[in-house]
Amino acid sequence: MNEKLTEELNLQMNREFFSSYLYYAMNTYFKEITLDGFAKYMKKQAKEELKHAQGIHDYLIDRNAKINYSRIEAPDINWLNPLDVFEYAYKHEKFITGHLHQLHKMAEEKNDLACQIFLNGYIVEQVEEEAKFYKMIERIKTNAECNCNLNNLNIELM
Ligand code: MG
Repeated sequence: MNEKLTEELNLQMNREFFSSYLYYAMNTYFKEITLDGFAKYMKKQAKEELKHAQGIHDYLIDRNAKINYSRIEAPDINWLNPLDVFEYAYKHEKFITGHLHQLHKMAEEKNDLACQIFLNGYIVEQVEEEAKFYKMIERIKTNAECNCNLNNLNIELM
């Protein structure tokens, strides 16, 4: 596989590992404020991100490309409230989508059809990832507007 494309895929694997790390940190945040339903939700996301990282790892192996593990950044965890957490997650997923689009463009430029098809799966899944967080933002906002306790939504997620 093309060297630059291999390098970029390795960076994307690191971003997926970081996503997992970030959602585990969000799991901690919700645990600490005893919103266990939200905590569970974030733990599920964290596990999914590990699968994304694993998928890129396995793809690189199948292509006989070198795996490069790089440092995983510590997430910035100074969230103000639950809404802030979900807005952060939504923004993060949009950042991930942007990188996947760039990767796809690179695979196209390198005439790597298999890599383009591999990335298609990730790109399509991003629509779902973004929608998941966006919908939660809307639900939290609606909850706040009708003065419902956030706990109702929390219980629903248990
Ligand atoms: Mg992901």
